[in-house]
Amino acid sequence: MNSEYVIEVDGLKMHFPLRDGLFGQETGQLRAVDGVSFKIRQGTIFGLVGESGSGKTTVGRTLLGLYDKTAGSVRYRGRALENLTAKEFRALRPKMQLVFQDPYSSLNPRIRIGDAIGEAMLEHKLCTRAELRDKVIEVMKICGLAPQHYNRFPHEFSGGQRQRIGIARALILNPDFIIADEPISALDVSIQAQIINLFADLRDERGVTFLFISHDLGVVEHLCDDVAVMYLGQLVETASRDTLFSRPLHPYTQALLAAVPTMDPDSEPVEVVRGEIPDPSRPPSGCRFSSRCPQASARCHQEIPALREVGDAHRVACHLVDGTNDRT
Ligand code: SF4
Repeated sequence: MNSEYVIEVDGLKMHFPLRDGLFGQETGQLRAVDGVSFKIRQGTIFGLVGESGSGKTTVGRTLLGLYDKTAGSVRYRGRALENLTAKEFRALRPKMQLVFQDPYSSLNPRIRIGDAIGEAMLEHKLCTRAELRDKVIEVMKICGLAPQHYNRFPHEFSGGQRQRIGIARALILNPDFIIADEPISALDVSIQAQIINLFADLRDERGVTFLFISHDLGVVEHLCDDVAVMYLGQLVETASRDTLFSRPLHPYTQALLAAVPTMDPDSEPVEVVRGEIPDPSRPPSGCRFSSRCPQASARCHQEIPALREVGDAHRVACHLVDGTNDRT
């Protein structure tokens, strides 16, 4: 076991059957995730970025076993999750938590917040009912919620407070790995900063490891240690944060970065990438980005570029940087 990594994903695929007709015959497959591999280092925040429809959320959910994956393996602290019995997986599950974009949808409007935060502790038999209140209040404080909020109902909270409740529900189980799926995109900018700082504190002070799924590269640059860029079910570039933002090599990464808003009030907004992301049930032949890439050549429409190492922990899937036609 390599203890440097909390999560090791190898060749992960998640294909959903497409059905049609009177008897629901399978007519194709939606290849939401199609051969994704990455590793997340202990005590770091790993950013997974890409446009809506790239498959980011499916990666997070498949990783936690919420979908029955089509292929590949997921190792948590060296243990292959697919080899665990249902009982072993259930025992491990509190260590791996998910924070959603919209925590309100997962809160029962008739259950008080203190009870909602603590219910998983009782479910997993991690404390007695007598010990619960103190534990809930402790984690509420860490997440910036006041103890007097304990008896309030979900509708009495703002969007930012609800996101803190969502984080508190994950944190009370003392996880060492959290998947945060677009956790701040529904919040005001000032509240976003507070939640980002909370994640950074959890990493720096408690050693929590994160998979941070986002379409916001500005936030990813501020928060993450390593970054993977996803397009149409596959990774196109992975690198350390510093390398990716200072030396992006894939045309898709370059286009995403060019569209990040600047502080210059005179700057014109830039279109993220021209055209729409293609249907994942019918990806383009060759390079999946070829239908939108301004630098596509005939080779790109025929040959799939492999994700190759081009520098220290820097991998890129593009014929222009695969060593046979290096433009760097
Ligand atoms: Fe563009 Fe070709 Fe590189 Fe794909 S392989 S990103 S189409 S240049």
